[in-house]
Amino acid sequence: MKISPYSGGLIISYQCNLACIHCLYNCRPSWKGWAKIEDIDKILGRLCKIKNFNSLHLTGGEPFMNLPLLIESIKLCKRYNLSFFVETNCYWAKNEEYAEKILRKLKEVGLNSILLSYSIFYADKIPIENFEIAMEISFKILGRENVSFYTLSGYQLLKNLNFKGKINFEDCLKLLGYEKFVKFLQNYIVPKGKCLYTLENFFYKFPPEKFKGANCIFEFLNPYHIHIDLYENYIPSFCAGITLGNFEKVLNEGINRNEKILNFLMTDIYSFLIWAENEYGYKRKEGYINKCHLCLDIRKYLIDNGFYFDSLKPIEFYHQL
Ligand code: SF4
Ligand code: SF4
Repeated sequence: MKISPYSGGLIISYQCNLACIHCLYNCRPSWKGWAKIEDIDKILGRLCKIKNFNSLHLTGGEPFMNLPLLIESIKLCKRYNLSFFVETNCYWAKNEEYAEKILRKLKEVGLNSILLSYSIFYADKIPIENFEIAMEISFKILGRENVSFYTLSGYQLLKNLNFKGKINFEDCLKLLGYEKFVKFLQNYIVPKGKCLYTLENFFYKFPPEKFKGANCIFEFLNPYHIHIDLYENYIPSFCAGITLGNFEKVLNEGINRNEKILNFLMTDIYSFLIWAENEYGYKRKEGYINKCHLCLDIRKYLIDNGFYFDSLKPIEFYHQL
């Protein structure tokens, strides 16, 4: 099964200045390690050969934490003539002068487009004003049409309450009210990764039998949203902690059905559960939020108990989960 992606992200590091409770990839300050520029060169060189590949995002972690690498990565994107943007949580936009200096530098080496992220999950660490400064300066330097947000609704929700500065999650919840928060959550979050544990009480749960017959072929073959990380893992769709293999091998040869866990997930996720119970002693929970919760809980159990598999990478994702 060959995959030919149209768009995707390059995770140049999982290190982030924050460790948000909803973080899909469980990024955090202590997860150190950045892509080598020669590896980025190799990955971009391969991606630009894919006929329909038309949009790349440079992401993390927080890519602005390593400006020299970000600058070199942008130069490479330009050299390969890739259409791309950079994602950031705006922590660096502490004042207008500094924000302008950074963005001008990035524009000078080839940045044309940016995605600014604002989240109530990090409103305790990053003042809302940082996002506003980043927005204003990005409009000025890159042009309004080249600035996108994730999510503007999260920002507006707080802005409408005349919110200023920082606020912790519990107080934010009180400020918004439970119903408004849950509504926001449903539209905002991809219910995968770390949030399946940290925010599980905000979701309905279903017995495992509900997921009988479900599989992940759509996600594995999804050409619209893939990631390649600094370890060269090919990560499908919005999955986290699971790889289809080395990106080059996957792009050249397709998915390896001989890998046991991938094969279960492509066939029937319930068979993954039965196998994990019978062979490794996994104990099923009464309820799961979705098939990804079932999948992740089994994978976490395997790793926590020292059972390693080629598809369960990067291993650091499972630490502190
Ligand atoms: S800012 Fe983004 S990458 Fe960093 S921890 Fe939060 S969600 Fe993850
Ligand atoms: S069940 Fe697992 S492999 Fe399938 S889409 Fe969800 S996280 Fe990805």
